[in-house]
Amino acid sequence: PLPRVLSVQSHVVHGYVGNKCAVFPLQVLGLEVDPIHSVQFSNHTGYPLFKGAVFDGEQLRALAAGLEANKLLNHTHLLTGYIGSLSLLEAIADLCAAMKAHSPHLTYVCDPVLGDEGRLYVARELADAYAATIVPLASVLVPNQFEAETLTGGSIGSLAEALEACDKLHARGPHTVVITSMSLPGEPDTITLVASTRQPQDAAGRLGGAQAMCMRIDRIRAYFTGTGDLFAALLLAWMHHHPGDLALAVEKAVGGLQAVLAETVRHCGAATLAAERTAEVCALRELRLIQCQGQLQDP
Ligand code: ADP
Ligand code: MG
Ligand code: MG
Repeated sequence: PLPRVLSVQSHVVHGYVGNKCAVFPLQVLGLEVDPIHSVQFSNHTGYPLFKGAVFDGEQLRALAAGLEANKLLNHTHLLTGYIGSLSLLEAIADLCAAMKAHSPHLTYVCDPVLGDEGRLYVARELADAYAATIVPLASVLVPNQFEAETLTGGSIGSLAEALEACDKLHARGPHTVVITSMSLPGEPDTITLVASTRQPQDAAGRLGGAQAMCMRIDRIRAYFTGTGDLFAALLLAWMHHHPGDLALAVEKAVGGLQAVLAETVRHCGAATLAAERTAEVCALRELRLIQCQGQLQDP
């Protein structure tokens, strides 16, 4: 079937996080996207101030009912990112079940957005709900190191521990797990990514068994907002184009992402990377997605 993605993520009027980071890359890579906005804010929350409103579970259920009544809930993929409330998370679980009733082969790509760099940025109950009800529904899970640790309840300080965490997560449901960024001891200049898959990935059942890969990425000494959202969208698209070749899909996703980061650094200037986070500096550091359209398509 033609790829159609239902993408439930945040929306910002200005800048690039959530759906603003996902819709354009998915579209330029040839996938149809139906976005649902889990929040609508003026700008991302790293700015000195933001305004806007959050969506609740009832509002999501209403949209899902409308789509279902018109027989439009027949997507091949569900993609979820930042979900701020328990009510919305419960509605997502029901939405996923309704979508699977229409499309038994639905691929659910879940970015369990819980926190980063040792800090939880959602309520503890939300993290527990993710572990209990969302992880078992996901086909592809893309936590960062902190999220993988939170979901498995242990710290990850080596490749071996990363693979153990992936195994724990596989055992709960997802056939593919990518820990998108880890800081390992003694490697301050490197981001390590681990990707692990077990089970067939395509309808023909090719690629049985287990595979794992790791990738080392040069760390840019700065914090970027929206990179995880962009990664999840690119991985979904490239897994669609290269079924059964997770290593290639990951390489292309990281390639596109690194091109965007290089252009973002070039645009904002090295001095801005270390500068205090004023509104002006935040705006300068927004990801340069549009300018990298060619590299996203051919990383
Ligand atoms: P999240 O935003 O969910 O924490 P990550 O930090 O894991 O997501 O970022 C996803 C991807 O973005 C990483 O795999 C890496 O390729 C890239 N990335 C993010 N931050 C940096 C950085 N400072 N330097 C280089 N690459 C980065
Ligand atoms: Mg991060
Ligand atoms: Mg993330």
